[in-house]
Amino acid sequence: MANYSLKKQSSAKLNEMKDYYRKYLNSNIPEHAIFTAKTNGVTITAYHTGTVLFQGEGAEKEAEKWSPLNTAADGFSKPENNNHLPENFSRWSVIGSDEVGNGSYFGPVVVCACYVSSTRIPLLKELSVKDSKKLRDTEIKTIAADIKHSVPYQELVVTPSKYNEIQPNYNVNRMKVALHNQAIYLLLKKIAPIQPDGILIDQFTTETNYRNYLKREKNQVTDKLYFATKGEGHHTAVAAASIICRARFLEELDKASKELGLTLPSGAGAASDTAAARLLKRGGMDLLRKYAKLHFANTQKALKKL
Ligand code: MG
Repeated sequence: MANYSLKKQSSAKLNEMKDYYRKYLNSNIPEHAIFTAKTNGVTITAYHTGTVLFQGEGAEKEAEKWSPLNTAADGFSKPENNNHLPENFSRWSVIGSDEVGNGSYFGPVVVCACYVSSTRIPLLKELSVKDSKKLRDTEIKTIAADIKHSVPYQELVVTPSKYNEIQPNYNVNRMKVALHNQAIYLLLKKIAPIQPDGILIDQFTTETNYRNYLKREKNQVTDKLYFATKGEGHHTAVAAASIICRARFLEELDKASKELGLTLPSGAGAASDTAAARLLKRGGMDLLRKYAKLHFANTQKALKKL
């Protein structure tokens, strides 16, 4: 019987797997295991140590779904060709997509897809379109405005209210897939009849997971998809998308802070707990749900502070 194991999986990854196999979970859980599931003749068992065991015919194929970058550090070194971008990809005409705000307690989730044709790449480079993490907030705002004047893009904003409404039914990755797909779909319509050479998604889950979640969406964009982590380093289109997202996120956070007369911090640290406690005091959960992603642990911490 074939046996494959993945090692050192994070608890987030284990949760993602458990969710993915939720229909096939076995209620009889072995000692030290988090869950066990059986599908397509493969038994999958995840342990608290971070090891996931795949047993049975087809174990290798099943395990491959979870091999994100196929590095030895992931405990699984079989290369998955999908992750290799074609040569000269950075010079192709590409739609890039990225999102911002998922890790921040306050503020929206913003997703943006941006089309950068090969002829526009030098212009964007001139506008200093680079990794948004390396740019200051003020620079981000200026550059985002320049990008919006230069290339077609599609932005989607999920306000905290909307997020709190859909979050119980969508896990984070499913929500991201739905948003990236929708932004890309709308942008393809905008630029038609032009077709990009490729579509690069700043990778947040395996390609297999992305495509599985995609099956539940309408308007599925399935062709020419490429996935890469640190996508902004692989094509300016992702860098541009990322800057637009970041600028919009900051703008929304500023707007909310002005509305409240209280600075809402980005991120999910202790400052967020303090601000949340103040909002709760002022207007209870009804007020907080308009500004914060309630399922974050910050909500419980803020309630304790009161
Ligand atoms: Mg990203």
